[in-house]
Amino acid sequence: MNGRALEDFLDWEFLTAEERFVLAARLPTGQELEYDIERPEGLPMGVTLEPPRIRRCANHCDFCFVDGNPEGLRAPLYIRDDDYRLSFRYGNFATLTNLKPWDVERIVEYRLAPLYVSVHATEPTIRRWLLRNPTAPDIIPQLERFAARGITFHTQVVLVPGVNDGAQLTRTLGDLYAVGRAILSVSVVPVALTEFSKRQLVREPTAAECRAALTTVDRFATRALADRGTPWCYGADDLYLQAGEPLPPAEWYGDFEQRENGVGAVRYLQTRIAAARDRLPPLAGKRIGVVTGVAMGPLMPPVLADLALATGAQIELIVVANTLFGPTVTTAGLLPAAAIEAALIERRDLDLALVPAEAVNDDLHFIDDQAAATLLARLPMPVRLSADFADALVEAGVPA
Ligand code: SF4
Repeated sequence: MNGRALEDFLDWEFLTAEERFVLAARLPTGQELEYDIERPEGLPMGVTLEPPRIRRCANHCDFCFVDGNPEGLRAPLYIRDDDYRLSFRYGNFATLTNLKPWDVERIVEYRLAPLYVSVHATEPTIRRWLLRNPTAPDIIPQLERFAARGITFHTQVVLVPGVNDGAQLTRTLGDLYAVGRAILSVSVVPVALTEFSKRQLVREPTAAECRAALTTVDRFATRALADRGTPWCYGADDLYLQAGEPLPPAEWYGDFEQRENGVGAVRYLQTRIAAARDRLPPLAGKRIGVVTGVAMGPLMPPVLADLALATGAQIELIVVANTLFGPTVTTAGLLPAAAIEAALIERRDLDLALVPAEAVNDDLHFIDDQAAATLLARLPMPVRLSADFADALVEAGVPA
């Protein structure tokens, strides 16, 4: 492309952003061609790229979700990705421990920001311990070098009790705050383990440990609110849940930048329902089952009360335990189709069931590789995949 070799989709997108460029190609026949391309801005070129080769992770965290996978899942679920390109594109968290010098230059040249970074701890030895990577570079100087060149970050700390909580959490948040405004946010997320995780090496935090972490989070958030006009430091919904503390109001989360990371996800749902209130169809007399995972179960009643009030429908919360990963995996996004099927197969009394859209991948397959269409065909009621309830109901109402 204009004399530069193409490495991946990022090169393609950035280098073809010009209105005019020269594309040199070698065809499968071996023939070499040069295309002089001119196109109005934004007009698609009709080119499909091979999926990028995922950058593998160089770490071996005790709490790695890949180790926590049972056997027999789809092969991609065993890949430990740690890829700044996916961090930029999809908000996947990366550790920046596997960057080559030319990756650094690329991040700056293409302004790949904001990036989502797993910091965990800023004390270098603790971070290397958590990542089980003795060569992980010091994160604060790394972030500062990027910050000086205009790159911004959303960051997270996965809280591992006895390792990066207490004084280490205070240090980590203080160090990140001191980097300045390039650190757009930091979330504190309690470590999540499955039945298959290395439980002899790592454990989940207790309620008291979660409360202590929230106290630290609140201290930094109060300071940031006063200094910078944003809380900046957020506890994950799970941290509040496990601490037995109420969630902050929706306004607390600003643009809900880390909602995909379970930060403000509950309040986000409530704002979506409130925003769709005028467009929701009247559903008096209908029974709607809402499937969720165990984690969201206790947080859902206020969300569903909003939905019932707005529609007049009778809404039933159906909390489904994870039969594939074991009961400690409580997120709705990892529910297997088999567990959802077992919960709904006898429910002929429901007019509609809403199933979490985050439980399927882009190919509409659940984590246990069952196609959504197959599940839907087996169940006795109409079923919709739904991200925020309002979406499924506004678009299509409820079948008569
Ligand atoms: S950074 Fe840790 S948790 Fe993430 S993929 Fe690598 S080993 Fe697993």
